[in-house]
Amino acid sequence: MRALQLTAPGVLEMREVPVPEIGPDDLLIRVGAAGLCHSDSFVVGLPFPLREDPMTLGHEIAGTVEAVGGEVTGRAVGERGIVYLCWSCGTCRECRSGNENVCLAAGRTAMPPCPGLGPDGGMADYVRVPANSFVPVGDLDFEQAAPLADAALTSYHAIRGAREQLRPGATAVAIGIGGLGHVAVQILKAVAEDVRVVAVDVTPDKLDLAAECGADLGLLADGETAARILELTDGRGAEAVFDFVGTDPTARLAVESVAPNGAYRMVGLGGGNPGIDAGPAGGPGLPWGATVRKSYGGTKSDLLASVELARQGRLRMAVERFDLADGPTALDRLDHGRIRGRAVLIP
Ligand code: NAD
Ligand code: ZN
Repeated sequence: MRALQLTAPGVLEMREVPVPEIGPDDLLIRVGAAGLCHSDSFVVGLPFPLREDPMTLGHEIAGTVEAVGGEVTGRAVGERGIVYLCWSCGTCRECRSGNENVCLAAGRTAMPPCPGLGPDGGMADYVRVPANSFVPVGDLDFEQAAPLADAALTSYHAIRGAREQLRPGATAVAIGIGGLGHVAVQILKAVAEDVRVVAVDVTPDKLDLAAECGADLGLLADGETAARILELTDGRGAEAVFDFVGTDPTARLAVESVAPNGAYRMVGLGGGNPGIDAGPAGGPGLPWGATVRKSYGGTKSDLLASVELARQGRLRMAVERFDLADGPTALDRLDHGRIRGRAVLIP
């Protein structure tokens, strides 16, 4: 089969490899679509290899069950679904409490094995997955379903974690209207009643996309953005700020525009420094009561909720389709901010 593999730091290659063998608790999935996330770009850019041997990328997987392991119950060949990306242990205290994204088995880094970021992922004709990671999607298109596995899951989790701030009349800011951000705007509109959504990005076309997704207002990111948000909120700031970029400027923007008791959620992995200190609140720094959460992925129930929203027609992914073989081109466009919504690779 074909697989898009990271063969050395910075080197992506389409290779012919054997179809994976499955164990008794696994499924073999025939991939229908695989989303391309900015985290893939991060992994390709790492200066060291994640694995000694070539690794197939792809953690947003949608497809059809092709084969079922001998010990698996309740799954059948031909079922359509997506793959939950936290391959957590399922038995620890956190997993049993429904916090699979911070599984104890993953240690303090709390990042359970994830396809395409350790085990082989879904940018291939077939992928092996643990059967309990499979989530049926009914008749959703694969290219609509694949981005639910991360773009929607991660956004949904960050937003659910700020639900106390998202009361009627509140303002929410989404910084970075890419794969995650354009879904986050829709989730905010779907789950938070009467919340004003302000979208921030560096290009006008991303703000147009945000408007199509239901954002009430779009702001270009520049030196004035925090002041604009304060102006819009009577000097108080936004009750929730979701940063889907995570660089120095966006981290500072979040700190400078969040309201007292507000929620600042770090999702983007840009390595930015928000410059938070333990001094008295005042000036442009973090206001009293504001919370910061570094949000990773989401729980299985966040994924089920995302699938449900999509099946109800309340989440619509903006998708750019690429042939699997054109993955490197798609990645290059993503790196240059030239993907509208999510790039999805079709084997
Ligand atoms: P993307 O490339 O599709 O979108 C990023 C968007 O941010 C683009 O629209 C870009 O124009 C915009 N942007 C860039 N610089 C900006 C700035 N200074 N101000 C405002 N907007 C700016 O990326 P994505 O796939 O949506 O991923 C977003 C981030 O989230 C990445 O860092 C990714 O690694 C991370 N991520 C984190 C998790 C998690 O669990 N925490 C999960 C998935 C992705
Ligand atoms: Zn991702």
